[in-house]
Amino acid sequence: MKHNFGAGPCILPKSVFEEASKSVINFNGLSILEISHRSQDFVDIMDEAQSLVKKTLNVPEGYSILFIQGGASLGFTISALNMISSSKPTAGYINTGTWSQGAINEAKNIGIKVSTIASSEDKNFNYIPKNINITENFDFIHYTSNNTIFGTQFQDIVNTNLPLVCDMSSDIFSKKIDISKFDIIYAGAQKNLGPAGATLFIVKNNIFDNSVGGEFMPKYLNLKNHIDKKSMLNTPPVFSIYTSMLNLRYMNKIGGIDTIESNNNLKALKLYEEIDSNPLFNSTVKGIDRSKMNVTFLLTNESLKETFDKMWNEAGIIGLKGHRSVGGYRASMYNALPLESVKILIEVMKEFSKKNG
Ligand SMILES: *Cc1c(COP(=O)(O)O)cnc(C)c1O
Repeated sequence: MKHNFGAGPCILPKSVFEEASKSVINFNGLSILEISHRSQDFVDIMDEAQSLVKKTLNVPEGYSILFIQGGASLGFTISALNMISSSKPTAGYINTGTWSQGAINEAKNIGIKVSTIASSEDKNFNYIPKNINITENFDFIHYTSNNTIFGTQFQDIVNTNLPLVCDMSSDIFSKKIDISKFDIIYAGAQKNLGPAGATLFIVKNNIFDNSVGGEFMPKYLNLKNHIDKKSMLNTPPVFSIYTSMLNLRYMNKIGGIDTIESNNNLKALKLYEEIDSNPLFNSTVKGIDRSKMNVTFLLTNESLKETFDKMWNEAGIIGLKGHRSVGGYRASMYNALPLESVKILIEVMKEFSKKNG
């Protein structure tokens, strides 16, 4: 048995893997991989996936759900382009790490004047900036709700009256969120939703009342076109959307976001408790800013690295190596990672400390 703590693509529920794999062989007589995206079968899948996103996240009236391609990385460009509402566009970005920086770079690339309105770069992104004071009248504000690499997470939605955009790639579907505060939310599927390939967009329909777009506005990057064509502007990533739909069904079957959120809270509580009480580990993030999805920690004694690595490898743990920008370890605990796997990791940490402490 393997315990997959990988940062993404990552673990999905076993029953979802099983049903998806059956459909690769036989989905109403064909493989899910060969059906036409214009067939009624797939139109039904798309409809169900979109309505399950609305149900699961309690999306209010006035929003559209889209599954498009390009990942969150193209989402940086798409979200910015569609939020431009003036001829000399400006935007306020919060810089909380690698992905935020990526979003900032792409906004600059399309000619937006970007102000970094808050940043945690001074401490290698190990905290979330607080009391952000927004004084300028930007076209929009952008932030990253969970910082997959640095292990920090916004506990509160950024407070502003300006249009708000959020990259929620690594914590969407992990907890309740008030969608009504946002104009665009985007997320690559491959963390909490499904296989890589689809990118989820939740778009407030009235952004297009003010949107002037960029001078550069290819058809595919204009979200209005995707809304008008019900996410079928071109061939969608059929398998990724289908499997995401299965996972959304699963989320609702086990009790929806409330159940998922309390499972995630428990997993995070247990692991942080161990990191804080075990003398051989140090958390890289303190207190309220800690991510419940990606837990980053270091050894207090680097010379024990080989010993610890051997122990977790032997326990069947996968994907625990930290990102190079932080070092150490990162335990990604997306929705589908069972509490059992977290308990195994904690046991290994306790055992390691007993033998080497
Ligand atoms: C994984 C991740 C991305 C990159 O997503 P792609 O779909 O690979 O482009 C962007 N932002 C965040 C917060 C992520 O976790």
